[in-house]
Amino acid sequence: MNRSPVWHPFTQHGLNEPIPLVTHGEGAALYTDDGRRIVDAISSWWVTTHGHRHPRIMAAIADQARKLDQVIFAGWTHEPAETLARDLVAMMPRELAHVFYSDSGSTCVEVALKMALGYWANRGEPRHRILVLEHSYHGDTIGAMSVGARGVFNAAYAPLLFDTGTIPFPAAGNEQATIDALEAACRDGAAAFIVEPLVLGAGGMLIYPPAVLAEMRAVCARHGVLLIADEVMTGWGRTGTLLACEQAGIVPDLLCLSKGLTGGALPLAVTMASDAIYDAHLSSDRARMFYHSSSYTANPIACAAANANLAIWRDEPVLERIAGLSARQAARLAPLRALPNVRNARAIGTITAIDLTGGGEGYLSRLGPALLARFREQDLLLRPLGNTIYVMPPYCIDDTDLDRIYAAIGEAAGV
Ligand code: PLP
Repeated sequence: MNRSPVWHPFTQHGLNEPIPLVTHGEGAALYTDDGRRIVDAISSWWVTTHGHRHPRIMAAIADQARKLDQVIFAGWTHEPAETLARDLVAMMPRELAHVFYSDSGSTCVEVALKMALGYWANRGEPRHRILVLEHSYHGDTIGAMSVGARGVFNAAYAPLLFDTGTIPFPAAGNEQATIDALEAACRDGAAAFIVEPLVLGAGGMLIYPPAVLAEMRAVCARHGVLLIADEVMTGWGRTGTLLACEQAGIVPDLLCLSKGLTGGALPLAVTMASDAIYDAHLSSDRARMFYHSSSYTANPIACAAANANLAIWRDEPVLERIAGLSARQAARLAPLRALPNVRNARAIGTITAIDLTGGGEGYLSRLGPALLARFREQDLLLRPLGNTIYVMPPYCIDDTDLDRIYAAIGEAAGV
């Protein structure tokens, strides 16, 4: 029995499943206290982009730790945050000229929602309704849960969640229904539409085409509804481009980034906003300021890690590495398509996914825990979403480790 006082996230301690103790990490691998080398096939919950303990990021953290650990960010500033904001503005679409710091994917979503409502309130035409895409996931704080799909994850908290308008997922062949529903909901009046561009992650790695995202952007623009792009998972190259939005040729009004912002080394997030949203809060009237902060906003060491990540993106052939990984994964996914238990083999950028039949669908599918245990025994960190097995490795993973991952998935799918 696990007697640790630690209460782990998304963990049912009553099942007494083993909880490995990780002592160090390097590249695409994690090492445990009992001497095992684990292949991190999901980038430690989608955060580790370049690999664990990337030397440039580790050096930047150590260097910053010698100078400034933390300082209040309301009314004060520091060089790592100023550099990072300037470089993000230079790297991301130029319409997103304002950078607000927070600490996690959930909080940068909360910030985006509050900015959207603040925008409308400060314009004197309050709008409150938020439109969301079916099967979405945006985090586990109350606001982020409210704009995510309802289900077993949040049923107990339902009374706290606010109402939203749900637009059907653009499943293949049904894209027009999505666009029509969005058009109707926008016509009825909405403050904002929040989307995960091109891939709904926790909803089951559901992929939809860039043309649909472009059309959704156009509908929002026609009705003056703000578009919030939650690129917490898709950003930093995951879908093959720096941002998934690029593939649709669109720029949102608000952009949420976290996870790979520091290369996965430290918690940090940003919400990037257009001039219109910033200007709506700009005034000599204190009542119109943006009322949000947390103690560690723009922590200098986390900002230094993010600066090192941006430098890696500038100096190293990251996109080429991603293209290579995408091709290497596609080659290994192809044979799985033929297996009788495999449905919907799919891929985008560095992400591949399959659904297994049998065992029931959804997050509580019987298959999930059985697969998890099986992969753990094989020293693979894979964490199926119910009956969906996906792979989302660090960009530095080598062929030997990829072979191990896909061989294990093939075996699991074959039984
Ligand atoms: N948004 C998306 C699209 C996510 O995938 C996630 C986490 O997986 C979040 C938000 C929440 O991020 P965090 O877990 O850092 O709060």
